[in-house]
Amino acid sequence: MRFHSLRARIAVVIVLLMLAAQVAGYIVISSVIRTNARSNSEEQLSVAERVFRQVLHSNGEKLTQAAGVVAADFGFREAVATHDENTVVSALKNHGDRIQADIVMLADLDGKLVADSRGPAREGRPFPFPSLITAATRQGDASTIGMIDGRLYQLVAVPVRAPLTIAWVAMGFLINDNTAREMASLTSLDVSFLDRRPDDRWSMLASSLPEKRDVRGDVARLGEENYATRVILLQSSGEPMAVMLQRSLRAAMAPFHRLQSALLVITLCGVLLSIAGSVATARSVTRPIAALTRFSRRVGLGDYAEPIEITHHDEVGELAKAFNHMQDGISERERRITELAYMDRLTGLSNRAMFNDRLQQAIENALQTERPFSVMMMDLDRFKDVNDTLGHPIGDQLLCEVAKRLLATLHRSTDLVARLGGDEFAVLLSTDDIDAAQLVAQRILKTLEQPITIEGQLVDVGASIGIVAFPENGLDMNVLLRRADIAMYVAKRSNAGYAVYDEKHDQNSSERLSLMSELRQAVEHDQLMLHYQPKMDLATRTVKYVEALVRWDHPTRGFVPPDQFIPFAEQTGYIKAISHWVAEKAIQQCAAWRANGIELAVSVNVSARELIQSSLPDTFAALLEKYDVAPEMMWIEITESAIMDDPNHAIETLDRLHALGIRLAVDDFGTGYSSLSYLKRMPVDELKIDKSFVMGMALHKDDETIVRSTIDLGHNMGLKVVAEGVESEEILTRLKELGCDLVQGFHLSRALAPSMLEAWLLDWEIANSMVPSEQVGPGSI
Ligand code: C2E
Ligand code: CA
Ligand code: CA
Repeated sequence: MRFHSLRARIAVVIVLLMLAAQVAGYIVISSVIRTNARSNSEEQLSVAERVFRQVLHSNGEKLTQAAGVVAADFGFREAVATHDENTVVSALKNHGDRIQADIVMLADLDGKLVADSRGPAREGRPFPFPSLITAATRQGDASTIGMIDGRLYQLVAVPVRAPLTIAWVAMGFLINDNTAREMASLTSLDVSFLDRRPDDRWSMLASSLPEKRDVRGDVARLGEENYATRVILLQSSGEPMAVMLQRSLRAAMAPFHRLQSALLVITLCGVLLSIAGSVATARSVTRPIAALTRFSRRVGLGDYAEPIEITHHDEVGELAKAFNHMQDGISERERRITELAYMDRLTGLSNRAMFNDRLQQAIENALQTERPFSVMMMDLDRFKDVNDTLGHPIGDQLLCEVAKRLLATLHRSTDLVARLGGDEFAVLLSTDDIDAAQLVAQRILKTLEQPITIEGQLVDVGASIGIVAFPENGLDMNVLLRRADIAMYVAKRSNAGYAVYDEKHDQNSSERLSLMSELRQAVEHDQLMLHYQPKMDLATRTVKYVEALVRWDHPTRGFVPPDQFIPFAEQTGYIKAISHWVAEKAIQQCAAWRANGIELAVSVNVSARELIQSSLPDTFAALLEKYDVAPEMMWIEITESAIMDDPNHAIETLDRLHALGIRLAVDDFGTGYSSLSYLKRMPVDELKIDKSFVMGMALHKDDETIVRSTIDLGHNMGLKVVAEGVESEEILTRLKELGCDLVQGFHLSRALAPSMLEAWLLDWEIANSMVPSEQVGPGSI
């Protein structure tokens, strides 16, 4: 138990409090006991003094009475008067024996001993205590304590009257150790008889104490430290006499000592009990806290399995309840977060993160239990078309429907269906049997063939599925996914619906990889170049505009058309470097032409990705300044679908470009289903009708309708309208009739290198100044 623990502190505080209480109790009771013992001893001394005086008094009475009886005896008086010594002695002896007197004497009026119980030898000697007789003469009888022959006696003297006093009877008890002991047994105290010597020393004559000692000093302060002492001065003849009553303090304290010992034991027991009690209390207080702590740690580790048990109905119980609430809240939120993190919000399927997790898990399981599995990657065909033509909401609903059908096709709970993003789905199948996997793929394709109707529209969607098996096609998650992806592309390309991965497929994908590094080199090693395709004004037949189109002259592959690497560059993000290169090259070219007296406005294509990057206007502003080109000479073409991907963002960027003075054209118009309201808000100057409509005009009436209405729409909005993909004179004429402003197409010229374009322009001008007719372009001559 460490001291900084709550339990230790509670225990220590309680123990200290209890200890203080016990010790204080012990001290108070002990001091009461000591005071009590002292006052008790004092009281005993007082009682003993009274008893002692009483005994002395009653012994005196006894002696006086016995002496009185003998003195009053007629025969005795006669014997005294007649000096019949034998009778006197025997009478004295008889009466003395009756009360067991130790000494009986008869003294004549001259103070001489007539008879003495101690023997005839003392007759004729003086009576030892003449003062006693003097006192008895005054009072009738008298009593004293005195020494005779070195022994201590209590003596009385009574006159013998016939009727005048003719002699004195003296009778006494010897006072020796026995007397002292008797006294001691009556008073329960030690009794000592003392007399004072001429040298101021008090000598112990008789005592109940086992050892006699002489004591010095003031009589009132006689005694020793270990005794409670009282000294009584006695009436005596001769030397001063005193009796000392002593109470042994140790003896007096003995019962109290027992009490004290008992008290000490009780105190110690109390202390021990309080220690035990406080430890128990502390534990009972801290145990639920410890339980809550353990519980919190468990929750901290993410174990929400059990709520904490509520055994207390006090504050601790309330706290436990609060903890349980907290745990519920945390686990619920965590569940929700996990759900959000691992769920595809649109379809409710698992997302890519979840799929990767489960795939990794499946790989680990499979390595241990040798339970193989397969993975399917699926991509919808023509989904982009659906999205583009019917709009995102329909596209979203289509994805949900596909998800539903996928789930319905897979029965096993161990199978996992996920949407990896866009129109890409993946399935984790708990079988490595390629035939079984192919059957599943067929089932999926079949279920997607069933007509899908969304908001009354019949939507036709197909899919391509790539299949890989673990462990045959790879042991690593990324390898498996990449190979499933490759198989899927193979399926798409071959229109087979599904394809099982084969090693030979991989060559194509390595092609893709090398394309990436080659593209990087293309910019660095100047393999890219810009060709320029002219745009002709139908009204004036002048060429004042060209469109810059990027070309890649690959050292081994030869000429690579932009359609084959621009989308790839967009996917990989490399488009940024290409675009910058194109912009700089085009602006540079524009400046060069102007320096040579050729006024050509150049338009460049900008991809959707860059439209979102707000650095685009700054890039152009910097380049225009660098080459000192007027902004009106620059055009930017953005496809309609790029704008519609994120119209708000697009408008913002376009506004900034427009503010610079750069002109804007909506490319591939008619394919993106723009909302007119957006179009109206955009600072565009030109609409470029998509070449598919222009080229289709000759064959399809619908296309012509679209072209016509686009021209009208553009004009209504105050925009110039350009038709691209003009391949023939008829189309050109028709466009002119429809009021189209500008044309661009192979009929005029393909995109040409700058020097070629300059030559073409020269020819063009010559041809048109010579033949102001419907005959146009060198190609048609
Ligand atoms: P786009 O912007 O629609 O460019 C017009 C495309 O139509 C060019 O193809 C052009 O050669 C072709 N074309 C012009 N007249 C005719 C015609 O009469 N008949 C036919 N069949 N085709 C005609 P290209 O040069 O292969 O470019 C294809 C696409 O590549 C361009 O379509 C454009 O989206 C993209 N692209 C080209 N250069 C760049 C560039 O520098 N940056 C970006 N981001 N994209 C570019
Ligand atoms: Ca274009
Ligand atoms: Ca176009």
